[in-house]
Amino acid sequence: MSTPLLEARDLSVSYGRLEPVLRHVSLALRPGEILGLVGMNGAGKTTLMRALSGGLKARSGEVLFQSASIQGRTTATLARAGLVILPEGHRVIRPLTVDENLELSTMSLGRGRVRARLNATRELVYGLFPILRERRHQLAGLLSGGEQQMLSLARAIVQDPKVLLLDEPSLGLAPMVIDRIYESLGSLRDKGISMLIVEQNSQRVAKTCDRLIVLREGVIAAEGSPDMLAGDRLQAAYFG
Ligand code: ATP
Repeated sequence: MSTPLLEARDLSVSYGRLEPVLRHVSLALRPGEILGLVGMNGAGKTTLMRALSGGLKARSGEVLFQSASIQGRTTATLARAGLVILPEGHRVIRPLTVDENLELSTMSLGRGRVRARLNATRELVYGLFPILRERRHQLAGLLSGGEQQMLSLARAIVQDPKVLLLDEPSLGLAPMVIDRIYESLGSLRDKGISMLIVEQNSQRVAKTCDRLIVLREGVIAAEGSPDMLAGDRLQAAYFG
């Protein structure tokens, strides 16, 4: 089996001196894979995403990106190395145009790579989301909620990720827009980007992901293929 791109080993995380929110979590994201992470409110999904991307320190255990510990590395340095997190909510800069939003995200790559990267990836994201090409000179703040979510995703893509961590990409969006977003996530996987997707909407992520993990009260309650974890088995893992 191929070496994981991102791995949590026996990871426990707490906020301050409180009881750990995550306890002994181990998971592996393999190249070219979409892993769905589901669970109830407060199960620890966002905490896990933050710990996987350098935003929270492990209390014990470790996180490895491309086989190296992420300890001591910031979210920004990890993003430059190809581990990009897209937190919940629309991460766009409202007073800038669509084009300018993309350009600014590419800046984080460092000077030499910016121009070449921008031209290549702009075509990629405008191919994925033609509506953004149509709106490229419009201010991001004037886009609809769905278009802003597409632009958030586009801003993550232009950073040239190997791994994308997405927190609730379907939150608050209409079913048609959710389908559009998930279609694009499938295309990104085909282009070699691996993803971990956190969702409340377990049915939707199950349709697209290769494997599902159910988190309950900070521990992994179940893990398997979406087929294996369908219906009652998913419910049982969710609610205990
Ligand atoms: P949701 O779906 O509601 O976003 P979640 O599964 O992402 O939930 P987390 O946001 O990771 O869950 O929260 C897990 C637990 O950690 C909850 O009990 C929450 O109250 C607690 N928690 C989250 N952030 C903090 C914080 N900054 N300080 C203290 N406790 C926190």
